[in-house]
Amino acid sequence: MKKIFVLVEHRRGKIMDITFELLTKGRELAKKLDSELVALVLGHNIKEFIDRIKKEAHRVSFVDSELLKEPNAEAYQIVLSNILKKEKFLLTLVGHTALGMDLASSLAASLEIPIATDCIELDVENDELFAIRQPYNGKLNARVSFLPGEGQGFIITVRQGSFPQEEGSLSGKLVALPSPLEKEPDYRRFIEYIEAVMGEVDITKADVIVAIGRGIREKENMPLVEELANSLGGVLACSRPIVDNGWLPKDRQVGSSGKTVKPKLYIAIGISGSFQHIAGIKGSDTVVAVNKDPNAPIFNEADYGIVDDLFKVVPVLKEKIKELK
Ligand code: FAD
Repeated sequence: MKKIFVLVEHRRGKIMDITFELLTKGRELAKKLDSELVALVLGHNIKEFIDRIKKEAHRVSFVDSELLKEPNAEAYQIVLSNILKKEKFLLTLVGHTALGMDLASSLAASLEIPIATDCIELDVENDELFAIRQPYNGKLNARVSFLPGEGQGFIITVRQGSFPQEEGSLSGKLVALPSPLEKEPDYRRFIEYIEAVMGEVDITKADVIVAIGRGIREKENMPLVEELANSLGGVLACSRPIVDNGWLPKDRQVGSSGKTVKPKLYIAIGISGSFQHIAGIKGSDTVVAVNKDPNAPIFNEADYGIVDDLFKVVPVLKEKIKELK
């Protein structure tokens, strides 16, 4: 039987959301391709993870070793190569996370198999698997096909937030595997976790977020949008260039290298909608975008869009909100 592997990613005692997204998609693909879905758990003292994961896959293969206590791409690569060389598999899914980016390409090289990175969709057509990637900063959707090889598998890294998470109802068989690691890896060592500094506002808990992007042009213009956020009882957040300019602290940045937010209302003002930004707003109930460019990718995510100059639109919005109060 063909196999689909999913790497279970966990950090500081918690399984990361991307894992459940991959397992949900993995179950769908396993059904379509008549395959076995195998969750791979690497770590130390991982009983809790295994118990949580077993209903999500047909099999849970795990390696428990003190040397896998903290995520280390080099250690993971050695262990996964060892496992995957012995298994004939169709597909291995890895999150396009800091660890996944570090790990997946060296894993593909060590196994001498193809890899497609940062995919946002995966499906089957005429019994063949295809993936969608977004090169050129999300301006293009590229369909990637995989040539069927002789027992050859593929590795695909998947962008966070691409698939929904659904609870599984399987009862995965548990398989303990030995660790090939005898010592710490040569080139990478885990040193410490450094907590991001927390400001006075936690945007991940806000119901209303008004986010500002490079369209605001000058720091002096920011109060205009901040007042809109205040009038809605919301908080001000931003895209990365605003943080890079030092206009707002890092804990206000939304996106793949910032915070993931889940507000009831997200208003994006002068934000183009790069995939790195969108990755952080997928859980929003309603997205409103204000942008003067009708082709800005943010409109693909928005429930409501206003194509106009933000310096005209924001004062009108503020007035309207005042009238409604
Ligand atoms: P731009 O892309 O420059 O867009 C500005 C928008 O404003 C344009 O669409 C324009 O039409 C519009 N505009 C201009 N003037 C007006 C006006 N007067 N009225 C209305 N609209 C106007 N970015 C993030 O946001 N979060 C992340 O976490 C993040 N992580 C990253 C991680 C990596 C590894 C990398 C490489 C990049 C990351 N980025 C992230 C950066 C990302 O690629 C984009 O560069 C960034 O999101 C663009 O920000 P922006 O939309 O504000 O600016």
